[in-house]
Amino acid sequence: MDYPNRFDVIVIGGGHAGTEAALAAARMGADTLLLTHNIETLGQMSCNPAIGGIGKSHLVREIDALGGAMAHATDLAGIQFRVLNARKGPAVRATRAQADRALYRQAIRNILENQPNLTLFQQAADDLIVEGDEVRGVVTQGGIRFSAKSVVLTTGTFLGGVIHIGMQHHSGGRAGDPPSIALADRLRELDLPVGRLKTGTPPRIDAKTVDFSVMDAQPGDDPMPVMSFMGRPEEHPEQVNCWITHTNAQTHELIRANLDRSPMYAGVIEGVGPRYCPSIEDKVNRFADKDSHQVFIEPEGLNTQELYPNGISTSLPFDVQLEVVHSIRGMENAHITRPGYAIEYDFFDPQGLWHSLETKTLKNLWFAGQINGTTGYEEAGAQGLLAAINAVRRARDEDSWCPRRDEAYLGVLVDDLVTHGTAEPYRMFTSRAEYRLLLREDNADLRLTEKGRELGLVDDPRWAAFCEKRDAIEQEKARMASTWIQPQSPQAEQLADKLKQPLSREYSLADLIKRPELDYPTLAAVAPSEADLSEAAAEQVQIQLKYAGYIDRQAGEIEKLRRHESTTLPQALDYQAVDGLSNEIRQKLSTARPETLAQAARIPGVTPAAISMLLIHLKKKQ
Ligand code: FAD
Repeated sequence: MDYPNRFDVIVIGGGHAGTEAALAAARMGADTLLLTHNIETLGQMSCNPAIGGIGKSHLVREIDALGGAMAHATDLAGIQFRVLNARKGPAVRATRAQADRALYRQAIRNILENQPNLTLFQQAADDLIVEGDEVRGVVTQGGIRFSAKSVVLTTGTFLGGVIHIGMQHHSGGRAGDPPSIALADRLRELDLPVGRLKTGTPPRIDAKTVDFSVMDAQPGDDPMPVMSFMGRPEEHPEQVNCWITHTNAQTHELIRANLDRSPMYAGVIEGVGPRYCPSIEDKVNRFADKDSHQVFIEPEGLNTQELYPNGISTSLPFDVQLEVVHSIRGMENAHITRPGYAIEYDFFDPQGLWHSLETKTLKNLWFAGQINGTTGYEEAGAQGLLAAINAVRRARDEDSWCPRRDEAYLGVLVDDLVTHGTAEPYRMFTSRAEYRLLLREDNADLRLTEKGRELGLVDDPRWAAFCEKRDAIEQEKARMASTWIQPQSPQAEQLADKLKQPLSREYSLADLIKRPELDYPTLAAVAPSEADLSEAAAEQVQIQLKYAGYIDRQAGEIEKLRRHESTTLPQALDYQAVDGLSNEIRQKLSTARPETLAQAARIPGVTPAAISMLLIHLKKKQ
């Protein structure tokens, strides 16, 4: 049957990409359908019950700055919060939360169910309605035809999913869920650039059978951090400890002796796994000189005994998994509640996407999340949000939008994927961003909320809170620049201890804060502001003034690059006709079809000389 309504946007898949996509489209006012296998698994964390961490928290904060759900749901579900790299510079600081799996799902479902303009429907999407080179809708397993102006596909690890435990394998989207076979077959027919990847998960453990007394307790931070810019620590549920134990020589010996029974090593799995989230068999094999690896024992929730042993993801047969777990200190008598497994699935080469995340092959079809070769909830959520923005903008005949690499980790993520593709599951790191000092997790709101408001993603309460914070920061920075401390004044004497030598002349507070011995709280105590500055605003004043020199330098570099960024390359450009390019570079450019000169410059092997040739060619054509 034909469903009576025509939607603006249909999102397929209720994982992390799909839920952010559906919410974003609906927030923008688009009539949106979220079609998913199972409403009970909306927002399900397939693997580790944790959100954030290095590089990833930057994405979570960016999703939040654009009005998304992930950070808020984490604040409602987080049972342990920590700031990683707290002693290092602000660019690499990262908030990480252990989440109660059930509370997280509940929070996401609650947000979805209460979102205006959003309709939920439970059924598998088996087919796409395609006319010419345009997608017009979706057909479900039960034969319902939904039509829409734009379709966003976020099917995670489900397309052609095969689960491996030792030499046994079966079809599955993840443990307990069906795979997506009909849709995978259809996408293969449609001439999209398909490949295979794999990922894995550890066995889960019954806490009643674990001896925590021989493990190191790892408490959360006090005071408790929050994930969302709108979050409050009071929103967090009860907080609990995680635990640390280690693998040992015996564990590694067991793994080595059974490598021939690992589907990875026996050649049964063709897909490449995540380099930065390797299985324990990969770690033992790759780091043969190490006889111990850390294992973080993480609670899966407040109302369950299940534990997630982070660090021993495996697809070894169950009997070996049992021996491996029993070889680890504190888990000698542990009971495995669910075996670990690896999953292989279809993904599509993201070089087949525009920066909007629309496919180059089919108009009105967007891909987001694991389907694009990434791994991780945060990477998925961020892409879902972007794909939905552009799906809505297409439905309204508006130009697409993607943040630049100097504006957001989301910009880095998409640009990396679209320009370079990926041969292994891609995860975010701070090291992937060249402008780390500008792209901090603490300033994601200052970087993106105004844009989010313009795009229609940010609601009134968030906008009001943002404007108040932004204005307070600017006012306080201005006060710091115009407040002078005279030598031998009482204020200078108060600072003498910290400065170790007296002030030689008058200095503004904005100058003084640049000194390593001084910080904002010290200066605010000596020369207080009349305004009642929030902690978050004070942190911004401190970072922006203290690192002003470095920040300005990066801003200068970006300005230079931006000139290339705004030089667009015609999509029909015949690279064979550009004089002076090597055949290899012509080939690379013809395949990647970069949208701007700056994107062309980021393609590996495309030299600065080649960029000059392109510039000359473009000028000649004008
Ligand atoms: P998913 O969260 O997988 O969501 C896909 C959604 O689409 C599901 O709701 C599904 O039911 C629905 N769906 C699929 N096909 C259809 C269809 N045809 N019709 C309707 N609905 C459909 N990430 C890490 O960062 N580190 C790890 O170590 C890690 N290990 C993992 C191990 C395993 C075994 C698995 C399964 C995942 C692992 N992940 C890991 C990946 C993490 O789960 C994903 O990156 C993240 O969930 C991707 O989000 P997504 O929205 O793209 O897809």
